Amino acid sequence: MNNALWAPWRIDYIRTVADGGAGCFLCEAATMPQSDAPHLVLARNSRCILMMNKFPYVNGHLLVAPYQHAADLAQVPPDTRSAMMELVVIGQQLLSEAMNPQGFNIGLNIGRCAGAGVPGHVHMHIVPRWNGDVNFMSVTGNVRVIPQALTEAYKALLAAADKVLPAGQAHAAGLNLPTE
Ligand SMILES: [Zn+2]
Repeated sequence: MNNALWAPWRIDYIRTVADGGAGCFLCEAATMPQSDAPHLVLARNSRCILMMNKFPYVNGHLLVAPYQHAADLAQVPPDTRSAMMELVVIGQQLLSEAMNPQGFNIGLNIGRCAGAGVPGHVHMHIVPRWNGDVNFMSVTGNVRVIPQALTEAYKALLAAADKVLPAGQAHAAGLNLPTE
């Protein structure tokens, strides 16, 4: 009903899913800090990463995932859950600074029937919202046109980090936040 005609990154995603054996993109991003820019990783702490969703339903759609490949929050230690929340807050701050959203949907899709594209690796979604956009269920259920290139948004969010975070925490290749 609301399917976009132009969303090239969704096509890559569909190919990945169809291939079935392409590995876990969250693990790949988590274990390759030297490739944060191509993976669109915005921030890391000792347990988790904050990255852009390369297959977004709205521009600015971010993900927070633990380094640990675990299917559910119950399978990661409490410290990891806390670290996830820290990056959720930072993601929200970066979006507020860079894109001025009027609201957010923040949450989890557990299991494929609930809409999880990567059911084996738990991750939180941060979806910026603006007055007049469609409701969240429509957003997650349909492919939409993304008006701004991912890399452009990535640069804007990294620039926002320079303003939002204390000096020294942000740098060009992504944010490496203090470890515990
Ligand atoms: Zn994984």
